[in-house]
Amino acid sequence: MAEKRKVLQRYMKNLNDLKDELKRKELEKKMKELELLQCELARRQERSGTKCAGGKIKELRQQKLRKVLGAYMMTLEGLLCDLARRQARLNGDKGRASESENLPHPQMLEEYTVAFCAVGEDGRELLEAALSARRCAYVPYSKFKVGAAFRAKCGRIYTGCNIENVSFTAGNCAERCALAKGISEGEKKYTAGAVVAYHPDEFTTPCGVCRQFILEFVHRDIPIYIAKAPPPEQENCIPAIQDDDEVLVTSAYHLLPYSFSSFE
Ligand SMILES: [Zn+2]
Repeated sequence: MAEKRKVLQRYMKNLNDLKDELKRKELEKKMKELELLQCELARRQERSGTKCAGGKIKELRQQKLRKVLGAYMMTLEGLLCDLARRQARLNGDKGRASESENLPHPQMLEEYTVAFCAVGEDGRELLEAALSARRCAYVPYSKFKVGAAFRAKCGRIYTGCNIENVSFTAGNCAERCALAKGISEGEKKYTAGAVVAYHPDEFTTPCGVCRQFILEFVHRDIPIYIAKAPPPEQENCIPAIQDDDEVLVTSAYHLLPYSFSSFE
């Protein structure tokens, strides 16, 4: 009996040992799984945390750089305007209109953009006259207002606006309107022109018909100033054209280099 009990006790002990072993293994397995999950969690947190923080730092840096760059650009533009003004004064520059009159023809002018304040006085006067004429534009269909101004050889400025018609082809452009006014009063030669309209992305230049029409009454090297009118919500602001507004200074030649000029 005593021996049987001993054997039984040994079995029980073995059984308990086995149970312990099983429990330990199971526990180890669970621990491993937990560790893997924790690792994965840490990795994910790190990834998203790093991304957010990195993105924010990058954005802040870019904002700061943009501010600094904006301030530099404003200073630079101010200096360039001032420089252009001083140079114009030093050269006794009264604008390209009068300059063109004194040059031998044909003289091809260069084409460039410049801040409004750096345009010669004659050019600025023409642009402002064109902008003023633009207010009278009759555009019930397109709502696209254009103003133009041309300086006659005698110095007088003639202005015009676009005039639309319910029968579309009967409408007229601002450039031809301005020139027709002058021509009908005996002015057949013009020394400079300006066109102003509002388009958010680009300068509005004369249409093809107007280019040909203009060339009939000008030397090919006369300057044509193109500026953007203020956006509709700022139309009544004073001054209407800001000093740093960009102006395209082109010429009749640049607008239509291969114009029709003779049928003989
Ligand atoms: Zn036109």
